[in-house]
Amino acid sequence: MSTYRIQGATGEWEVVIGLEVHAQVTSNSKLFSGASTAFGAEPNCNVSLVDAAMPGMLPVPNRECIRQAVRTGMAIEAQINKYSRFDRKNYFYPDLPQGYQISQLYHPIVGEGEVIVDMAPGVARLVRIERIHLEQDAGKSIHDMDPAMSFVDFNRTGVALMEIVSRPDIRGPEEAAAYVTKLRQILRYLGTCDGNMQNGNLRADVNVSICLPGQYEKYQATGDFSHLGTRCEIKNMNSMRFIQSAIEYEARRQIQIVEAGGKVVQETRLYDPDKNETRSMRSKEEAHDYRYFPDPDLLPLEIEQAWVDDIAANMPELPDAKKARFMGDYGLTDYDANVLTAELDAARFFDEVAKGRDGKTAANWVINELFGRLNKEGLDITASPVSSAQLGGLLDLLGSDVISGKIAKDLFEILWTEGGDPAEIVEARGMKQVTDTGAIEAAVDQVIAENPAQVEKAKANPKLAGWFVGQVMKATGGKANPAAVNALVAQKLGL
Ligand code: ADP
Ligand code: MG
Repeated sequence: MSTYRIQGATGEWEVVIGLEVHAQVTSNSKLFSGASTAFGAEPNCNVSLVDAAMPGMLPVPNRECIRQAVRTGMAIEAQINKYSRFDRKNYFYPDLPQGYQISQLYHPIVGEGEVIVDMAPGVARLVRIERIHLEQDAGKSIHDMDPAMSFVDFNRTGVALMEIVSRPDIRGPEEAAAYVTKLRQILRYLGTCDGNMQNGNLRADVNVSICLPGQYEKYQATGDFSHLGTRCEIKNMNSMRFIQSAIEYEARRQIQIVEAGGKVVQETRLYDPDKNETRSMRSKEEAHDYRYFPDPDLLPLEIEQAWVDDIAANMPELPDAKKARFMGDYGLTDYDANVLTAELDAARFFDEVAKGRDGKTAANWVINELFGRLNKEGLDITASPVSSAQLGGLLDLLGSDVISGKIAKDLFEILWTEGGDPAEIVEARGMKQVTDTGAIEAAVDQVIAENPAQVEKAKANPKLAGWFVGQVMKATGGKANPAAVNALVAQKLGL
């Protein structure tokens, strides 16, 4: 795959992107308090005295949030830091009563890792991860409920976030979306973040710069950022589509500035989806502006090797491994394996259907018939009226030639609308395939006898034999074995 380039007035430009993804950690309670993390509760109901920063309250690290960060680190092949520390990041934030955010600047819990992003069959990009650190989320200020007043909801205040920081290894809008998609898939497989972007549970700050062809390779060879352009950071993106549009807009904006002889100013920008443009929000602040210092209320976090080993021993099968297994064990194509592993529930469903059966047939049925129907009716796989056991039963009947392909589709329809046991339905409704040659022969003879003109034509042009096959299938209600019908028609017509 060639590198994404944009044609400017003076020549071609390349784009360099690094993402800071904020993923809300799946846990029952917050990072440093026992308050619930449940989404959609009445405002200010999930707020403990710690979250409200009442005098004398002390934070207590939530073991589950730390476990989730460690699991996420393991899934991206990262260094797990047995020593990490929490720091205070000081700023005024109306929805964070402490007046600082507890984060990890100097010693994050997870170090360098990597994510493999599939761009097309056989084309993958490696995105290096710089770090994952744990930090508190802020609450929500609401400015549009009253003309004169602002409101604040502290329910989200103190919920754990993982900030997953990539290296600037992403080279275009499509790659950026593919990276977020892959990361989200991994988090969802792990159950460490639900990945719901609409609710803001997964959001990304997108850093964009431009450079001339050849410059990125120099950066890669030396690690020297001065080969790259100055970046702007687009804050808080929570849609794959907007991430792509914002990158494109921002890259073109920077190209225009540089081509006109100007300089890109490092700053924080906001994307406006209605106008499809980015606007300056504030000049870029540096780490020292926040007066970071180790939080004196919290001891350094030291985790034991045995605990880490135990977590490692209980990791689930992750997307890449599942995809490789589906391709290896079931003989699936890269494309089908991608489709079937995109969502964990769908992958589980397929696994149950395919186990001990022909993998390719199972994939066809799951993707074309089942997913097709689910899509059409706007249903999730977990709400499928046809279970994996039922679809498996259908495939068994098809595989052992008890039913024909045509009847299998009818059976699927019955299972979808009425439910029931596939074998019993086939038995009770006389849907079995006719393999008895005597019965098929009689049907062939009848069609031939009734259509002498067609017989003459078919003898002159054997391609027309298909018409007879169709007639016999119709006469037998689709239940005749197609191979047997083909053979008999050819034989009787003397082809
Ligand atoms: P800060 O902490 O000031 O936000 P970092 O060095 O941590 O800065 O980088 C933040 C993000 O910016 C990272 O994801 C990194 O990959 C990305 N980044 C750094 N330099 C560039 C660049 N020249 N172009 C695009 N992205 C960049
Ligand atoms: Mg940043």
